[in-house]
Amino acid sequence: MGSRYGALSVDTPTWTEVSRGAPCPLCEATTGCSILENREFVRCLNLVSQWPVLAGGWLHPLPAPAIDQSLLAGPELAVTA
Ligand SMILES: [Zn+2]
Repeated sequence: MGSRYGALSVDTPTWTEVSRGAPCPLCEATTGCSILENREFVRCLNLVSQWPVLAGGWLHPLPAPAIDQSLLAGPELAVTA
């Protein structure tokens, strides 16, 4: 039936520190913040989120460009847990 391969391969993700050529997409810093190699998450040192990182900063999910606008325009405040 379904393949369960690659379900959770959370080894050690590679974080790339931001630079002048690739600044933080959240706070536009050119140093300090980091972007996950698959660009799914950003660890920002300046923008607070609900996911603090032990090493410093906060984790932010980075929406893919294709769904960026729909997420930003979505009724985010209506979502309650
Ligand atoms: Zn940042």
